[in-house]
Amino acid sequence: MTDVLIVGGGVIGLLLAKDLVQRSVTVKLVEQGEIGAEASWAGGGIVSPLYPWTYSDPITALASWAQNAYPELAQELKGATGVDPEFNPCGLLMLDPPEKDRIVDWADSNQKQFGVLNRSTTLQKEPALEKKFSEAVWWPQIGNIRNPRLLQSLVVYLQGQRLCSLEPHSRVTGIQRLDSGRVQVSTPSKTLSADKVVVCAGAWAGDLLAGMGIDVAIQPVKGQMMVFEPRPGLINSIILHEGRYLIPRLDGRIVVGSTLEHTGYDKTTTNEARDSLLEKACELVPALRSVPVEAHWAGLRPGAPHGIPYIGSLPGWDNVFVNAGHFRNGLVLAPASVRLMTNILLGEEPIVDPSPYHPLSPRPSGEMF
Ligand SMILES: Cc1cc2nc3c(=O)[nH]c(=O)nc-3n(C[C@H](O)[C@H](O)[C@H](O)COP(=O)(O)OP(=O)(O)OC[C@H]3O[C@@H](n4cnc5c(N)ncnc54)[C@H](O)[C@@H]3O)c2cc1C
Repeated sequence: MTDVLIVGGGVIGLLLAKDLVQRSVTVKLVEQGEIGAEASWAGGGIVSPLYPWTYSDPITALASWAQNAYPELAQELKGATGVDPEFNPCGLLMLDPPEKDRIVDWADSNQKQFGVLNRSTTLQKEPALEKKFSEAVWWPQIGNIRNPRLLQSLVVYLQGQRLCSLEPHSRVTGIQRLDSGRVQVSTPSKTLSADKVVVCAGAWAGDLLAGMGIDVAIQPVKGQMMVFEPRPGLINSIILHEGRYLIPRLDGRIVVGSTLEHTGYDKTTTNEARDSLLEKACELVPALRSVPVEAHWAGLRPGAPHGIPYIGSLPGWDNVFVNAGHFRNGLVLAPASVRLMTNILLGEEPIVDPSPYHPLSPRPSGEMF
């Protein structure tokens, strides 16, 4: 019976562990810090790319599969663990979106529902909005997931699985081939081995793989976020304007994001970002001026060119795989990304064509975004 070692305990590693134990595979997950405490915890949990028509087909293929899977996944985890990941099918309202002329074609060819709302219809839907926009595009099928709870429910789920062991505070420093065909993984305190190893190390994956002579273009991209204390009913949908967004949680908290900063592995928060997020939030919804900010934090997105994750076997390493580089969309893509990884690991029929995600597949050149 195959055993798999997963490096990294974010949403990708944890969901992959769940998928594998459900197929009777023995899994050990090794995490350098606390489990579920990095990008997957820090993110906003919007279950969609921000302006989805601006992304390439490989992103749309994974996102569409995962969007269909999320409501059931949340129900399954709630039922199995008692921890509700709080999937909120709230819809998303884009105020004056860019490149609006591309939306119709994209939505038609990907079977997505949308509507164009004038200002007064938009204000009927969201009365607390400031009136500085001319129209909005409404996406009723987009929701959000409360990602810290999703991670918590996955941990509780996996802790209850006989086939799974979770090992926090254990940093993988090297990966080597063994003559037996198995793979050895080194940490500062011990060595472990497995039939197959999957690197789900998020923003750190590029450095870990570079140590194995593999070049994948993954780099950390800092994002800062804030959350307001609960004000149930103040907004009902996700509101997006000029790249900044407000996300309503089911308990009335409102999450605001986010910045995009290329500052290496630095995760410090700054007053500048706090002021900028606060200003945008209050410009959109002036009533937020009187709502206290509960928390402000930063996380490191695993930035890959054009946000296309690397999913597949590593060149020259038969039994070592990667599933990393989901950039701004790791939460929405996760269920599909790990199912594809499972398909590849177990030789199953893939849910989507795996070729665009293979580490050797050429990535589009140019800016990441
Ligand atoms: C501010 C912000 C907002 C975001 N908003 C959204 C959103 O609304 N929707 C969306 O879909 N996505 C969003 N994202 C992106 C999403 O959070 C990420 O793409 C996703 O969480 C990546 O998951 P991951 O498991 O690959 O990475 P991570 O959650 O970072 O997990 C990787 C783990 O690997 C561990 N690790 C690394 N190296 C080693 C090693 N050598 N040994 C052992 N362990 C190691 C790390 O400690 C970490 O815990 C956002 C991200 C940020 C930062």
